[in-house]
Amino acid sequence: MGRLDGKVAIVTGAARGVGRGHALLLAQEGASVVVNDLGGEWDGSGADQRPAQQVVEEIEAQGGTAVANYDDVADWEGGQRMINQAIETYGSLDILICNAGILRDRMTFNMTEEEWDSVIRVHLKGHFVPLRWAATYWREKNKETGQPVDARVVLTSSESGLFANPGQLNYDAAKSGIATMAVVLARELGRYGVTVNAISPRARTRLTENTFGNRPSSEGDFDDRHPDNVAPWVVWLCTDAAAHLSGQNFVVGGGNVQLVSGWRVENAIESPQRWTLDELDTKWQDLFGDLPTAPAPRRAGTVAPAPAASTD
Ligand code: NAD
Repeated sequence: MGRLDGKVAIVTGAARGVGRGHALLLAQEGASVVVNDLGGEWDGSGADQRPAQQVVEEIEAQGGTAVANYDDVADWEGGQRMINQAIETYGSLDILICNAGILRDRMTFNMTEEEWDSVIRVHLKGHFVPLRWAATYWREKNKETGQPVDARVVLTSSESGLFANPGQLNYDAAKSGIATMAVVLARELGRYGVTVNAISPRARTRLTENTFGNRPSSEGDFDDRHPDNVAPWVVWLCTDAAAHLSGQNFVVGGGNVQLVSGWRVENAIESPQRWTLDELDTKWQDLFGDLPTAPAPRRAGTVAPAPAASTD
């Protein structure tokens, strides 16, 4: 008996890296899995159906059930096709893991319009489009049955988006937006019985080889940065045990799961009328007290740019 027997899951970007681990573990726990991946390069160029097909074959070799989908996650019709494929092939959709992603790192003063657009498109629109069609399906199902649909969504943010990594303005903006999407969607979809959470992985994949390149020195040691280490928390979020968790952000890597909290009001200054600039010259300091007035150049623990990326 698996914890997800009878469930139907979609994992986007599931042919490689972190997403492949999610797909394999979901299938091991009994879910039927739609393995989505257009099979592009790390920067989003190109397409190849073989990587997604290989993951399907791996799942089937383990005795699991899977089908490949090669749609671009950010394509409006493609996203709808992917959701429909799950429903038509396996009879429902219970789990959506939005994971597909690319990098086009560059300092802002060197970033091209195309580098900005492509990253914003794949991450932000590539989360929105499948979610749009899945949410429509779950709302209709809830109306028809009058019952909570008991569905799960896991989004993929990044520590770069949460903690602001220089050289990745496009990526950080998208990933920060995704962290907030988890909270918005949890509020929108909770009434239908859908939980929505986001994770920020820490794993050695082609996107992070420079950052997490070191492998364990001796065979048998725990490989702290193996991409498959991220899957247990993601899959656990999809089980009955996590039915009460929604709108949360987690950093996940190795054997470590961190709960991350969001923006909060630190201090306030108030005036009974519109401020004058002269008044603000003296009162602004009350907002900060001992707090720093500018961020440190780079915060420790964030994910550095991709292997081939230029940040100069
Ligand atoms: P990866 O390159 O190994 O896997 C990403 C997969 O997404 C690839 O197989 C790629 O073909 C697919 N993909 C890209 N664009 C697509 C599109 N438009 N439609 C369908 N599939 C598409 O990278 P990864 O490290 O496993 O990254 C997975 C996710 O985790 C990404 O969203 C990434 O930004 C995020 N992330 C990873 C790390 C890390 O440490 N590896 C850190 C923070 C965030």
